[in-house]
Amino acid sequence: MSRLDVRGIIFDIKRFAIHDGPGIRTTVFCKGCPLNCAWCHNPESIRPDPEISLMPDRCIGCGHCFKICQQHAHRMNGDKRVYDRDRCVVCGDCAEKCYAEAIEIVGRQVTVAEVIQEVEADRPFYETSRGGMTLSGGEPTQQFDFTHALLAEAKLRRLHTCLDTSGLTSWDRLDQLLPLVDIFLYDLKDTDAQRHKRFTGVDNDLILENLRRLNDAGAEIILRCPMIPGINIDDQHLTRIADVVRSHPRISEVNLLPYHRLGMSKSDRMGYDRPKLTEQTPAGQEVEEWLTRLRDLGVTTARRS
Ligand code: SF4
Ligand code: SF4
Repeated sequence: MSRLDVRGIIFDIKRFAIHDGPGIRTTVFCKGCPLNCAWCHNPESIRPDPEISLMPDRCIGCGHCFKICQQHAHRMNGDKRVYDRDRCVVCGDCAEKCYAEAIEIVGRQVTVAEVIQEVEADRPFYETSRGGMTLSGGEPTQQFDFTHALLAEAKLRRLHTCLDTSGLTSWDRLDQLLPLVDIFLYDLKDTDAQRHKRFTGVDNDLILENLRRLNDAGAEIILRCPMIPGINIDDQHLTRIADVVRSHPRISEVNLLPYHRLGMSKSDRMGYDRPKLTEQTPAGQEVEEWLTRLRDLGVTTARRS
């Protein structure tokens, strides 16, 4: 099979992205993630397959979805509208016929050729801003063949590439991607092992080990740290981030990602039963204080993302 024909499942392509690496970029979001962060900003990325997103507040009650669904996944139960995910086979017919756009399919199968064509459309912007393509998710290495083929095609076309990764993957995969990635956007969710396990569902030891190996292999790394009120914000965490930066000279920059609540409404639309965080988005002043603390600890490259 040609590299251009390799298929993957993505849930979005964002053009003119300015927070996913240097310059103006096109970010490709892959589905599938081995973590389950309590604060996830993109919960629609967690499951690997396409799924239905339902926004009841947009529904105008036309009833098209009830009539069209062969599985009877949409129906009325008394005066209550019901969408039964267990019956749904994600054929997409209801989404196509819902003119109110209350139903959407999240996730679609694409080829490398289709994605690269879309990425190429903004090449003039990459050239003037030193931007390029970023692969994000989800965890792109979950769809390794697709990720490898897309990055290889981008490099063949001399596009600058970033890979946004949780680091929870085999070293063998990262090693194979090394020559194809200009900058790793490496997520470090928490430096506290117990909290990491509790709030992401996984240990952080492999993540830290892969970070060390990428550093030792000479990769360029931007460390990305979500800052979640009530979970990982304390001085010890900032001190440990500074320790990580000091001991990994290939980390060229640290980006702090303050919590925002957008993921909550997305979870509701996808029917996920996820923990409800009640914390608010941190104020700008608070973020400035974290940045100042990191700079005091010697991390001069810290900035908000
Ligand atoms: S097709 Fe859309 S607008 Fe019509 S009832 Fe179904 S969800 Fe509501
Ligand atoms: S995606 Fe298909 S099976 Fe699922 S609810 Fe819509 S029409 Fe029914």
